[in-house]
Amino acid sequence: MRYGARFNTGALILAAALSIGATGVARAQNPPPGPIEISVDATHAPQRILHAKLQFPVRTGPLTLYYPKWMPADHSPDGPIPNLAGLKFSAGGKEIPWHQDLVDMYAFNLDIPQGVSTLDASLDFLISAPGPTIDFSASGSAKLFILMWNQVVLYPKGWPAHELTFNPALTLPQGWKFNTSLPVASQSGNGVTFLPVPLDLLIDSPVQSGEFTRVYQLNPGAKPSHEVDVASDDAWALDISPDLIEHYKRLVAEAGALYQSHHYRDYHFLLTLSDNVLPLGQEHHESSDDRVAEHTLVDPNGRMREAGLFPHEFSHSWNGQYRRPEGLATADFQQPMKGELLWVYEGLTEYLGTLLSARSGLLTPQQTRDYIALTASTTDHRAGRQWRSLQNTANAAQMLYFSPPEWSSYRRSVDFYPEAVLIWLEVDATIRKLTSDHKSMDDFCHAFYAPPDGEPEIKTYTFDDLVATLNQVAPNDWRSFLRERLDSTAATAPLGGITGGGWKLVYTDEPNEFLAAGEAESGGGDFTASIGLRVRGDGMVVDSIPGMPAFESGVSPFLKIVGVNGRQFSVDELRRAIRDSKSSSSAVEIVAMNTGTLEKHEIRYQGGSRYPHLERVDGSTDYLGEILKPLTPVGVH
Ligand SMILES: [Zn+2]
Repeated sequence: MRYGARFNTGALILAAALSIGATGVARAQNPPPGPIEISVDATHAPQRILHAKLQFPVRTGPLTLYYPKWMPADHSPDGPIPNLAGLKFSAGGKEIPWHQDLVDMYAFNLDIPQGVSTLDASLDFLISAPGPTIDFSASGSAKLFILMWNQVVLYPKGWPAHELTFNPALTLPQGWKFNTSLPVASQSGNGVTFLPVPLDLLIDSPVQSGEFTRVYQLNPGAKPSHEVDVASDDAWALDISPDLIEHYKRLVAEAGALYQSHHYRDYHFLLTLSDNVLPLGQEHHESSDDRVAEHTLVDPNGRMREAGLFPHEFSHSWNGQYRRPEGLATADFQQPMKGELLWVYEGLTEYLGTLLSARSGLLTPQQTRDYIALTASTTDHRAGRQWRSLQNTANAAQMLYFSPPEWSSYRRSVDFYPEAVLIWLEVDATIRKLTSDHKSMDDFCHAFYAPPDGEPEIKTYTFDDLVATLNQVAPNDWRSFLRERLDSTAATAPLGGITGGGWKLVYTDEPNEFLAAGEAESGGGDFTASIGLRVRGDGMVVDSIPGMPAFESGVSPFLKIVGVNGRQFSVDELRRAIRDSKSSSSAVEIVAMNTGTLEKHEIRYQGGSRYPHLERVDGSTDYLGEILKPLTPVGVH
């Protein structure tokens, strides 16, 4: 998963018949019930409401129905139950009362009367609009809508999700088209029925729909097929430039060369270009739900900032979906997940996604190096790394995903994305060094995500399995190597991959391309490496890093900067003041509003502008250059 840059004012981008065991499910005595009917009426989606009807085969006696709680792509118990409304049950036209469990808000208890074998349910789902917090109900506008089946589904307690079969049907607003990886059974007018599908694959298969849609084939005529399905609020946004489509084609070719397998029947990039839905990237076995602001692909800054979105979500089909940590492969949507291996599920995906962004030309080598430098700088300036290990950020993912950006340096955030990029880079460089560049993380990928190809499947793994595969590629004490970096509470980030790759992290007054693009997009300022401050365009302090000059002068999150060196605040004014600090003997003077009180702060800093970059280490082998090189010839797919 990735959340859109809209929520990040700073540098950090958070930027089937699945064959898993029934761990944790108290299995009912009976075989699973017959197929459950679900039909969703989305004709009122533009009015921000969905209607759904479900029909369950039932037996007399107590019945518990669940609303999905733990969402696999979110690794969190965040099923949007507050937006469930209009819940009613009946049998033979007679209403049956329900009671929400007093402890588990996601459980509904019913008593099925004698003689009843079919239970009818109707419910509504309320679509909201994107706000300052992560809201998965914000998935529709006047012109488009992304159906996430978990929002409208209930399922009976007692069986693993893959043993419950659903017969899905969907009615769309007149004239709207749709795209999904779900196989279609039949279509008539604005109604569509899908082939029967197990519950886990249903929830793994969103449907994108809208008035304005367009399909781009990435490997025409080949199997499995890969396509970009675009939906947007305006027709103009559907035209993706041919050079970008060319990079997406190369992405498919490069991923094929890296993973040498596929665990999907066909693959759909469900790309939604809209300012009216929650921006995100959500991975699935056979598709990804990729949502960015409408202008993203025509704005050079937006295009660069989001270059990693497809490579990240596509990589998840192998890393996260096919191969999934044991603690995240739960049998249904109510069992708690354990995030301890998220530095692999998400962190390795971020690393492999970065490689693929470079190899497919979505990022230039220079942009990729600036991205890595920025990642290194951001994680190196986490004040919280001395109390919270990287491992703990993974363990606490379900909490940190939803923590605000304020105080993120001292609290730490979901740092297992960016910091794991540095760790996996070091693994890659180390393998290359140990084997005189004969082996690399590419070989790890061949082994770890190996065929058989075909339909979605989950193969779980543990930390030990990971270490064993690394040892297969290049024998080393990988257990200690990883544990040292994961459990460390050292003040500095692991930068060994950068130096091992033949480069070093330096700070200069030259802008970092990636950081500058982020600032241009958000309107904010990122002065992490100079005075330790991130600020929004209106002067609100997002983060102030303990131990760095801004914080030590008394500036903290939630203050609003209104003046800089006697001038009215603007990001440019602050940027100039920091730049000029080098040739000035006086402090940078800040006037800030603190809950209605005006305060003066003197930031003692004379280091000038400081932006992170990678610089070649003379005489060393450029393993990083090797890592970023395409595996397939450019121009051939
Ligand atoms: Zn992800």
